[in-house]
Amino acid sequence: MKVPFLDLHAQSRRIMDEVRPQLEALIEKSAFAGGPWVERFESEFARFCGVEHAIGCSNGTEALWMALIGLGIGPGDEVITAANSFIATAEAISFAGATPIFVDIDAATHCIDPDRIEAAITPRTRAIVPVHLYGQMAEIDVLRILADRHGLHLIEDAAQAHGALDAGRGPGAVGDAAAFSFYPGKNLGAWGEAGAVVTRDGELAERLRRFRDHGQSQKYHHAMIGWNARMDGIQAAVLSAKLRHLPEWNESRRRHAAHYDHLLSEIEEVLQPVQRPGTRHVWHLYVVRVAERERLIEQLRERGVACGIHYPVPIHRQPAYAETPSARARLPVTEVISEQLVSLPMFAELEDGQVEWVVTSIRECLQVGVR
Ligand SMILES: *Cc1c(COP(=O)(O)O)cnc(C)c1O
Repeated sequence: MKVPFLDLHAQSRRIMDEVRPQLEALIEKSAFAGGPWVERFESEFARFCGVEHAIGCSNGTEALWMALIGLGIGPGDEVITAANSFIATAEAISFAGATPIFVDIDAATHCIDPDRIEAAITPRTRAIVPVHLYGQMAEIDVLRILADRHGLHLIEDAAQAHGALDAGRGPGAVGDAAAFSFYPGKNLGAWGEAGAVVTRDGELAERLRRFRDHGQSQKYHHAMIGWNARMDGIQAAVLSAKLRHLPEWNESRRRHAAHYDHLLSEIEEVLQPVQRPGTRHVWHLYVVRVAERERLIEQLRERGVACGIHYPVPIHRQPAYAETPSARARLPVTEVISEQLVSLPMFAELEDGQVEWVVTSIRECLQVGVR
């Protein structure tokens, strides 16, 4: 049996008939950059998030960057975040002109540890950027209290958390803004690149709408120095069609995660992911911890099971950050865990038999040699 890490083709096939007439209508109208399909998706996605405003843009990295600069974060500022993320989280902070200050994570959830944040706050700190990692919300209420106590912005990296909840509230409901990615492999993925900022702040929304279209107040009249960060119309049409299926797809991921949980509980050598009580985890990734993970991954590959590592090198240890103050961070939990992470196959269209095969293979591999 073959178990891919992710099967984008299965999902594309399923929605083809819904997307095709939309694409034909869009092409008729040449609504390629911005336009009615983008506006429709923005209002649908805002409603889905339970937040007033959604501003579509070109990708998730840009959504994070726009949220940061839209809130006035720039040169000389420090922004607190986690190092066990995709590098985009830190890049957005760096390209806003600020310095990412990495704080260690909670060993159970792998999200930023709120108890370690106050020690990292300096007079230059302007914002906290939690990452809702693997589809699970960081402790957003505690982070809000911390941010308010110190006069900081709270900007959520929700690139892996479409539909995640904490006490009934999703990304953007508690933070000043949340940034989403619609990269093809995300829980809600485009047929290309796309992203969005969601916010309850009407002024921020207005500023970002203008910014992403060259700061135009009307055609060729530029009220501010902006940027081209417009969303592609075709992506918006695809995302609208997919958004209708997202709750059902997230439910399937949750079912697969529960299945993995159940089967893996018998294997002592595998540390299972932890779901914080009161949250809805949407399982962008199902990540376990094992010793000697390279051998396990290789042996699983030989059995037709494709795994990933998210992420093998924490950002403060990346060559890209070696010459920056961010590299000085001491993050023992992040560093130890990064050597043990294995992401198992996870996507809505997985079959029960595939989940069973993954776990059977893990059991065989661990008995054959890893121990
Ligand atoms: C995917 C991702 C991003 C970046 O999104 P892009 O659309 O690829 O630019 C940022 N942060 C996290 C945590 C991600 O997983």
